[in-house]
Amino acid sequence: MSTRGQHPEVHTIGIPEPEASALKEFATKTLQERDEAVSNLRCAAEPIGCGKEISPEEFATYSPLDKKEYSMSGLCLPCQDNFFGSE
Ligand SMILES: [Zn+2]
Repeated sequence: MSTRGQHPEVHTIGIPEPEASALKEFATKTLQERDEAVSNLRCAAEPIGCGKEISPEEFATYSPLDKKEYSMSGLCLPCQDNFFGSE
């Protein structure tokens, strides 16, 4: 039974699947980790990122897009490359 396709402004109240709460927990931890990483100018901790600090000099070499990706993902540039699979 799908709850999709309803009016986008209506919040559907449903019964969460167990998998969904595990996913939510993972997402929450990931977001907390990301916030902490970004506010300390380092990469997100393993296994998401490498956990290394990003020096201000290194960060200055990031392109505006890289910085945006970093602020969203909390991943340093090498980890972004790994994560997004650019080769
Ligand atoms: Zn990293």
